[in-house]
This record gives sequence, C-alpha cells and structure tokens, in this order.
Amino acid sequence: MNEQQLTGIGMTSQRTRNRLVQRLRDAGIQSEAVLSVIATTPRHLFVDEALAHRAYEDTALPIGNNQTISQPYTVARMTEVLLAAGPLNRVLEIGTGSGYQTAVLSPLVKQLYSVERIEPLHLRAVERLQRLGYDNVRLSMSDGTWGWPEHGPYDGILAAAAPEEVPESLLEQLVDGGRLVLPVGGAEQKLVLITRHGDHFSRKSLEPVRFVPFLPGVQR
Ligand code: SAH
Repeated sequence: MNEQQLTGIGMTSQRTRNRLVQRLRDAGIQSEAVLSVIATTPRHLFVDEALAHRAYEDTALPIGNNQTISQPYTVARMTEVLLAAGPLNRVLEIGTGSGYQTAVLSPLVKQLYSVERIEPLHLRAVERLQRLGYDNVRLSMSDGTWGWPEHGPYDGILAAAAPEEVPESLLEQLVDGGRLVLPVGGAEQKLVLITRHGDHFSRKSLEPVRFVPFLPGVQR
C-alpha cells in the first residue's frame, strides 16, 4: 500500500482506525493479532468513495448488488474464532463481497482462497486486492455451496453469508481438526463454530448475528 492510500485525509487516518480498534476491544475482541491487522487495513478502500467517511464506524455498509461489507466487529470476531486453536495454513472464505474480510485474513494465514457468487463484486474484489498487494489470495466466481474442492482440504473455512443448513461440501473439505465458522439460520441467525474430529463434527453456537442469506447459483 502506498503512503497516500494509508494516510489520506483525516477521516481515513491511523488515528481513526485506532479508535475503531479501541471500540472492538471494548466490545470484547481479545486477539492482538486480529486487532493489529484491523488497525492497518484500509477499510475505506473497500467501500464506495461516497461512503468512505463512514468506513471506520463499527457498522455494515452497502457495497452494491444488495450486499454489504461486514461489520468490523463481526469480521474481527469470526477471524478470532477461526484462529483460536492455532495458526492456519489453508483457509477458504465463502462470500468475498468487498474483499475486506479477505484482506483481514490474508496476513494471518498462509494461503487464502475465497469465492463469490455475484460477478461484479468478484471482479471488483480481484482488482482491489491485487492493487493493494494481497498476494497469498486466490479468488473465484462460484457458488460456495460446493466449497472449492480443488484446493482443499482446508484448516479453516469461514462463510460471510447465512445458510439455513450447513452445506455438506464444506464439512467434507475440512481437514481433521479443521474449523468452520459461519452464521446459520433465517430470520434468527447464530454464529456457529464447527470442528471436525475424524468423521465426527462438534458444533458450538456462539452469539446472535445478522448476515445476508447464503444463496445458490451464480449471478452475472
Ligand atoms: N466479508 C464480506 C461480506 C460480504 S456479504 C465483506 O466484508 O465485504 C456476503 C457475500 O456472500 C455477498 O457478497 C454474497 O453475494 C456472498 N454469497 C452469498 N451466498 C454465496 C454463495 N453460495 N457462494 C458464494 N458467495 C455467496
């Protein structure tokens, strides 16, 4: 990232990002690794210029195509939960969206794969993440219901959209001991952590969340 992108005008300054980090700390985020990535990730470059002045509020914002960039608290929380058992090599993300969650995960894992079902969002994320130099990330335009079997199995999988039922393929693409973090449900959603133990899967319900629905097929 170049100096200009990082410093920018006042509202996108380091001080503004530090305030967001303090907010996340107060809200219960404990992972210093995650907080330090949030402190250096330019979220204002992941939203439309017209919304850049709100990029460091702890809120979801529209990114077009009826989708939203996830709330920073939720991004931090899911990343913290995914990483809680130790470092991860291969990680799959479902729902690239703006690419912000992708950017937060990128420095924390070895190799990151991310799929998005809406083509215009996928294309914008490819351009943005390349320009910002996130080079351990591979993106694909596809329906995450099927995971991304060619690159699996994964140590961790994170989904940013809520299915009513956890897709079987995602469970199958976890390594033994692998972790899947995702929102599950319809009108009422819960953040869920699923851990693989051989052919058995343990499931832990965390907190209530609000995500866009996990939808089938692709949209051009
Ligand atoms: N973490 C992203 C969140 C984007 S919202 C960000 O911070 O910007 C969730 C995204 O999941 C949307 O872009 C939506 O199109 C995508 N999505 C929903 N169902 C999907 C599926 N089956 N496969 C791939 N992406 C999906």
